[in-house]
Amino acid sequence: MKRILIAIAAVSALALILGSCCSKKAEIPVLGWCSVRADDTPESFKEYLQKLKAHGLTGVCVNSSLRDREKIAMAAKAAHEVGLEYHAWLPCMLQGGMLHEWYAVNALGQSADEHPAYVEYYKALDPHSPEVIEWIVKQYTEIAQIPEVDYVQLDYIRYPDVILARGLWDKYGLVMEEEYKPADYCYCDACKADFEATYGRKVADEPSKDAEWAKFRQDIVTNLVNKVCASVHAVGKKVSADVFPGPDSYATWMVRQQWKDWDVDALFPMNYNDFYLEGAAWVGKVTDEEVKAVPGKPVYSGLFICHDWKNKDKVIDPENSGLLPSEIAEAVKGSMDAGAAGICLFTPDSMTQEHWDALKSARGL
Ligand SMILES: [Zn+2]
Repeated sequence: MKRILIAIAAVSALALILGSCCSKKAEIPVLGWCSVRADDTPESFKEYLQKLKAHGLTGVCVNSSLRDREKIAMAAKAAHEVGLEYHAWLPCMLQGGMLHEWYAVNALGQSADEHPAYVEYYKALDPHSPEVIEWIVKQYTEIAQIPEVDYVQLDYIRYPDVILARGLWDKYGLVMEEEYKPADYCYCDACKADFEATYGRKVADEPSKDAEWAKFRQDIVTNLVNKVCASVHAVGKKVSADVFPGPDSYATWMVRQQWKDWDVDALFPMNYNDFYLEGAAWVGKVTDEEVKAVPGKPVYSGLFICHDWKNKDKVIDPENSGLLPSEIAEAVKGSMDAGAAGICLFTPDSMTQEHWDALKSARGL
């Protein structure tokens, strides 16, 4: 009798373990970065979101400009009607059409307004400019007050890439063994003068070797982020941020994001392994660093999905590369085992049926 009871107890314990394990997997929050199409109506966008929900998404980060208030209101309402969390995904420092004086100046003395680095749209504002800070804080705070917006999401919340991800060097024909002067910001008179006032000396002759000059600019980004957070929190909303992986292993020295100092409510590191010429196993490794960098704060591991995965061996551009269906389990499990709060797909539209099946199975469904 006793032996039977022990056996029953053992079976129950096993059921408990299995039950908690499987239900935990089923609860993995899955978000996706997506867009409203030009021809979308509220109804068609809602239909699109319903499909994402059926695939297991729990929230969406919807791309908009700071000026797209009506679109954000429509998309956020649709997301809530479908039962999805809504992050208003908004590019921050890259803005066209602003006052010339608001743009950052590179180490060659060129304005990002007239000489953007790498690509035409890299028109980066100066995050140290009081006028820029005031304008950015105002935009995010206004958008946060749209009723169904749960989070405003800071994207391009950084300086341009002073060093590009290793996987992008060939694409741009660059070898970046050191900081790239055309993308090294900001050397405007005000930034240089404020550095001198803070550190009691000028920027070193070799700026890329000046650790305090680098730190000064990391602090400038942190200051802007924390001003946005204070203002958005004051209206009862939350802030999430799309960041480079790390922070120490990549984000701080590539784009001057020291995001462990940020007062944001959730972090979405873009753990895009192909950009760094890494395999799917790297996702879990870097997520471990990220989770440990911000104890108690949710980290959503951003996964880059390869749509044309059957031809991935022919894809040269990492911006068209990403995870194969067969790599989904390793990336998702690696992220969750490292303590991620969930994952975020870039993008759900790149997911093929094989990817969805792999995700479902990785979630234990
Ligand atoms: Zn400046």
